[in-house]
Amino acid sequence: MHQRRKTRKLSVGHPPGPNVAVGGDAPISVQSMTTTKTADVEGTLAQIYALAAAGCDIVRCTCNEEEAAEGLAQIVPRSPIPIVADIHFQHQLALAAIEAGVHALRLNPGNIRKPEHIKVVAREAKDRGLPIRIGVNAGSLDPDIAKQFGGATPEALVASAMRELAYFAEVDFDDVKISVKASNVPLMIDAYRMLSETTDHPLHLGVTEAGPPPNGLVKSVAGIGTLLAEGIGDTIRLSLTADPVEEARAGRTLLEALGLRERKGLDLIACPSCGRAEIDVIRVAKEAQEALTDRNIPLQVAVMGCIVNGPGEAREADIGIAAGRGKGHLFVKGKVVRVVPESEMVAALVAEAERIVEEGFDAVLADADEGAEAQAAADRDELLQIQGTDVNSSAEKIAKIRDLTN
Ligand code: SF4
Repeated sequence: MHQRRKTRKLSVGHPPGPNVAVGGDAPISVQSMTTTKTADVEGTLAQIYALAAAGCDIVRCTCNEEEAAEGLAQIVPRSPIPIVADIHFQHQLALAAIEAGVHALRLNPGNIRKPEHIKVVAREAKDRGLPIRIGVNAGSLDPDIAKQFGGATPEALVASAMRELAYFAEVDFDDVKISVKASNVPLMIDAYRMLSETTDHPLHLGVTEAGPPPNGLVKSVAGIGTLLAEGIGDTIRLSLTADPVEEARAGRTLLEALGLRERKGLDLIACPSCGRAEIDVIRVAKEAQEALTDRNIPLQVAVMGCIVNGPGEAREADIGIAAGRGKGHLFVKGKVVRVVPESEMVAALVAEAERIVEEGFDAVLADADEGAEAQAAADRDELLQIQGTDVNSSAEKIAKIRDLTN
């Protein structure tokens, strides 16, 4: 991982209301966008609360009509997280959203092009202490710029952002973050790299119109993850054609996986399964994920398909299960604490995970079933007799290699 690039810091929202710092040394934030009609106040708020619970830090709502702006006036005071109004085509709706009390704006320079309109919005945002995201999108690039650069090239995306920034500078407004999104991943990566060399404004990363998971997820993670690993990016949105809660969860998981945010919830690791598996690993992992996700348990949990290698492969996990011989071996920090019937594995896992959260690891380890380790060792030996050599017997392999090479 490269060191994070230094950017200036801004605040989306201000105390005592919801507020999130973006840029500088602020944690990289997760954004998402509601899919409800913004005029549907209760429906939009329900989605915002679900997004916040899934790890979304900042939410964007479209402000595409007068009714949407009126909806925002009722949504903003009840939202637990800052709200960004998404504006296209009509600069008057940006002014209406500011009036509604939103915490920030997103303007698309590709479709609000009159300098006087851009400047009037920037002046108003400056007076009210609102940041603006210059949201350049390869699919809706200003036609003049597209013509000048021969299409939506990285240079064209950056030029569009810099032209908007220059309009803002004319009215002494620089409370700005920038995005240069594209659905083409290499284009998006090149554009953000170039942008990060050009300006120190905080950058909002995204692969636009990535599509439904799993493909959309792969594209988003390829683009956003590559840039984050290079130290580029201050806030992210994974644009998936899916329930926005899913994209917020995925965004959060990406940041946690890269070590850029502390783990807030469950980290489920599961073996990929192989011919040695004694259970349907995919089903059991799914059951465990569903049972544990709702409880928001901040543990690393392993689901392993066999007891021969399971606990060894998942030694670093906080808690896990490994299946074998009709039983589930429940292990905590690599130590087998219980052996339960296979049908009770997931329930036992959930119960112990809850206990760890309430009482801590030491209490659970001290209360391990007497004989559980011995039982696990006996089951393992029995399986080895049936299935052959432990695939992790590295000492044996090394001895054989030495025999062969000496
Ligand atoms: S834990 Fe067992 S079943 Fe799972 S991949 Fe490893 S050897 Fe195969």
